[in-house]
Amino acid sequence: MSKPVKRIVIVGGGAAGWITAGLIAAEHDAVSDSGTEVILVESPDVGPIGVGEGTWPTMRSTLSKLGICETDFVRQCDASFKQGTRFDGWHTGAAEDIYYHPFTLPSGYMKTNLAESWLAHRDRVPFADAVGTQSHLCAHGLGPKQGATPEYAAVANYGYHLDAGKFAVLLQKHCTQSLGVRHVLDHVTAVNNDEDGYIAFLDCKTHGPIEGDLFVDCTGFASLLLGKHYGIPFVSRKNNLFIDTALAAQVPYADENSPIESQTIATAQSSGWIWDIGLSSRRGVGHVYSSAHTTDAAAERELRAYIKPSLGTESESITLRKIAINPGHRQEFWHKNCVAVGMAAGFLEPLEASALVMVELSAKMISEELPATRETVPIVAKRFNEKFLYRWDRIIDFLKLHYVLTQRTDSDFWRDNCDKQSMPESLGEQLALWQHRVPWHSDFAHVDEVFSSASYQYVLYGMGFRTAASARPRARAQVEEADRLFAENEQKTKQLLAGLPTNRELINQIREFGLPKGKVA
Ligand SMILES: Cc1cc2nc3c(=O)[nH]c(=O)nc-3n(C[C@H](O)[C@H](O)[C@H](O)COP(=O)(O)OP(=O)(O)OC[C@H]3O[C@@H](n4cnc5c(N)ncnc54)[C@H](O)[C@@H]3O)c2cc1C
Repeated sequence: MSKPVKRIVIVGGGAAGWITAGLIAAEHDAVSDSGTEVILVESPDVGPIGVGEGTWPTMRSTLSKLGICETDFVRQCDASFKQGTRFDGWHTGAAEDIYYHPFTLPSGYMKTNLAESWLAHRDRVPFADAVGTQSHLCAHGLGPKQGATPEYAAVANYGYHLDAGKFAVLLQKHCTQSLGVRHVLDHVTAVNNDEDGYIAFLDCKTHGPIEGDLFVDCTGFASLLLGKHYGIPFVSRKNNLFIDTALAAQVPYADENSPIESQTIATAQSSGWIWDIGLSSRRGVGHVYSSAHTTDAAAERELRAYIKPSLGTESESITLRKIAINPGHRQEFWHKNCVAVGMAAGFLEPLEASALVMVELSAKMISEELPATRETVPIVAKRFNEKFLYRWDRIIDFLKLHYVLTQRTDSDFWRDNCDKQSMPESLGEQLALWQHRVPWHSDFAHVDEVFSSASYQYVLYGMGFRTAASARPRARAQVEEADRLFAENEQKTKQLLAGLPTNRELINQIREFGLPKGKVA
């Protein structure tokens, strides 16, 4: 008889481990005696990475599926609302060089390609400002909803900025107390196979052997099971994405009423960029850079200079944490009965905060396609590997897009980024097409693409990419519909600017009164 998959063992207690454990436990009733058993083993000797503060809107449905109340999440994780990213200095490096990649799709996006009509107005109005309302909300520091909007529902699409350390604590408490996840605090010292080469059990320092049917490797950069035990090769993508080092800092606000930015700010530097993330309690600020193009000392100087306007001379004494980044991913993610999630599977610079969303997508697929018996494990593994290899490639294309369109020539970093040798072929082909027509749904093969053609439009046209206006006349109905949507956006923007609270006001309201209960809109 085929061996049933009943006990899932997750190794690692960072965000990847707890999100995976929680989603599997919630969907497979780990809390009942007849449900799937979920065990999470976490080393007391190795802490989680503790950075990673920007999420996608997908986190709303993940939290909701886990059964976490949004009010508790906002209060306990010092969370604030993120409506996208503002890119400063990426195109020309001039003072006015700013564009937004908001989370909300362009108006009428399912049917009407507004980018086509916007081309005629491109010298007058920025793309994001014309096709939606969200860049205006961000520019005014407004929240994406009102205090009376129910939990997880939105007026404008949003994700979060959060304190990664506090998030792990909340997830752990919720998974163990409400979802039936068993937590073992112990260091895994060895991984043991059965006669088929499947993992049979782990050796732990104090608890001895832990057996399981499926093992999820969430051990971060260590990649203990997939990388070290199975020796699945790491595919470096440093030839495409040069960033390999981070310096992270925590920056206090001037006072408790300081404004909270409604988007992540990514500011280009000479050999990388600085992230700036506004939580309710502080800012998370960090410099990611290419060690082949600058020194640690020069990168530190740029980071301290960035912080200085808000902190003055204190910026010189703020503690910095250095983290090495190896851009790339494993050659496969699921091997035998072991699947890697989170940084054990791979990592790329956090330019579009794509790490946590890959954790959510991986955990969701494992949970939804959880094999009933060992017989079907290879089939699910094959599908998982195909899907996620495709996703890593698409993320790399999209991150590289931010660099290849620059007109900056002020350092080797920007010049080398424009070298065609460093551009994935797939991206080069798309860019060739988009010189003659705007990106659209048909450019991407899957319904569940990580980045849609809308994201490409925001970055392309934010970076000044020139698509030649079509020589062919367009249907009158299309032109009229686009004009109607542009006018509607202007009207809606005025209403929202008048009706939404600031991000800080919204957070204060939630901390004091909470949000009305509700489901994801
Ligand atoms: C500079 C930087 C900025 C980032 N910014 C973002 C962002 O804005 N948005 C985003 O989505 N992501 C971001 N990330 C990524 C994000 O931090 C991670 O994807 C996320 O925290 C998940 O990490 P993890 O759980 O995979 O690994 P970790 O947090 O490193 O957890 C590893 C776990 O494995 C355990 N472990 C290791 N060895 C053993 C062993 N032998 N036995 C038992 N347990 C073991 C450890 O105890 C730990 O609990 C960023 C990352 C970096 C480096």
